[in-house]
Amino acid sequence: MAEPNEVHITPGMQKYIDRNNAYLERRSTYIREVVKKWKFDTIAVHGVYTMEDALEDYQGSIIEPTFMSSSQAYRDSDEMECALAYLIPTWCYSRIANPSTYYYEWTLALMEGYGFDGQTSACSTSSGMAAIAAATQPFLVHTREHVHEERNFVATAQCYGGTFQLFAARYMEERGIECRWVQNPMNLDEWAEKIDKNTRFLYGELPSNPGQGFFDIAQVAEVAHSHNLPLICDSTVATPALLRPIQHGADLVVQSATKTLTSSGFGVAGAVICRGDITTQIPNEAMQKDFCLYIKYLPNRDTGPNLHPMQAILTLNDMRTLRSKVDLMSRSTQKVAEFLESHPGVESVEYLGLPNHPRHELASKYMWLVDSEHDELYGKPVNRYGHLMSFCVKGGREAARTVFDSFNRIWRATDLGRIKSVATIPAISTHQQQGEEGRRLANIPPNLIRLCVGGEHPDDVIADLEQALAKVTEGSRVSMAGAK
Ligand code: PLP
Repeated sequence: MAEPNEVHITPGMQKYIDRNNAYLERRSTYIREVVKKWKFDTIAVHGVYTMEDALEDYQGSIIEPTFMSSSQAYRDSDEMECALAYLIPTWCYSRIANPSTYYYEWTLALMEGYGFDGQTSACSTSSGMAAIAAATQPFLVHTREHVHEERNFVATAQCYGGTFQLFAARYMEERGIECRWVQNPMNLDEWAEKIDKNTRFLYGELPSNPGQGFFDIAQVAEVAHSHNLPLICDSTVATPALLRPIQHGADLVVQSATKTLTSSGFGVAGAVICRGDITTQIPNEAMQKDFCLYIKYLPNRDTGPNLHPMQAILTLNDMRTLRSKVDLMSRSTQKVAEFLESHPGVESVEYLGLPNHPRHELASKYMWLVDSEHDELYGKPVNRYGHLMSFCVKGGREAARTVFDSFNRIWRATDLGRIKSVATIPAISTHQQQGEEGRRLANIPPNLIRLCVGGEHPDDVIADLEQALAKVTEGSRVSMAGAK
């Protein structure tokens, strides 16, 4: 296997290793004794970027540096050899690491690890899909001598269309790796029944896009761990402001940082976040110990799904205000969902915040606005359910298209988590390619509109919905009158 070679350490190299070990020691003390004691907002604003970093290395810049550079130069061959053997934490080449992605990764690792009494680390990726591929592929390797080993994994059928394609087309059809879809992830027996000796991981998206699928993370993690398997969660819709799956037992989290984490809409980004010492049957010590460091240094080095440093800083900048934005967007979504629920032109509304939603109780166990008990506005824990909801328009596919085409303020786009409200019809966009059978599995009818409420005043979003829905409700009144 072409993995790291044994390196002969010379006294010249040892000098660099000692210096970097001292730096690592200082950094972990700072994280443990300072950063880990901060509230969520402070972590989101500062991460691990210190005044010392700024004044000593970056000319006092209060914002983390954007290193638009492909590679790093070294003082001498000793330093270069240490770096390329990963004996010191330098960044060598931007396909592997970069100071800008470093600050983004640490901030996100600490946000996902908030309230968790252990270590977390992160590896940035160029998109959410790159994160999902990077988080799952290392578990799908052949572990025995014969290459025709059967492999499978278990995943929630309600998931983003791109994830469905990765699992169904790329893994199942092209590589013969079976994906066993869980139809009702609230049913623990369904997860357990699908596991056998060839299973490599459990995967769940929650809340799912767009169907608001949910499951009991702690219990599913227990099922996974009892079979010595990891649980991977896609927590894009919740973001760490509302849910941090690692705290509840998940081994890995994937984020499409493109979404709410980069709410400005300035580009595409992703990340994998892990706990230290994940559960896995794969006999690979480095991967088990720090999964994110492992993929960064080895598999991602070889496949190259890296994040651009400029994008890392743009995303990082949006992440600083995540908690208050998610609070605002969640409160507005709640109001919009309540409006739609009582509208005569609407067949059904899917939003976890609605008390009669079948998964409301379970979601309420897990989805809390981080630090609301320390917020002078609330002073107690408060549930928030995020900015993603969907609704079915009465009258089927054509009526849904009429409503959709009538939006004036809400943007028609296959996007979510924006500071501007956006809507899509998943059956013709995000979930088009998976076909009717795939959409039936994921419960996506053709008259379903996904709506992500942004930072506008909710009354203005409601006004836009009202006038758009009037196009079908008034139309049906006219045609009923004509039929008489
Ligand atoms: N996961 C979820 C829940 C998503 O909604 C998306 C995209 O919409 C992705 C993953 C993929 O992310 P990206 O578009 O950044 O590749």
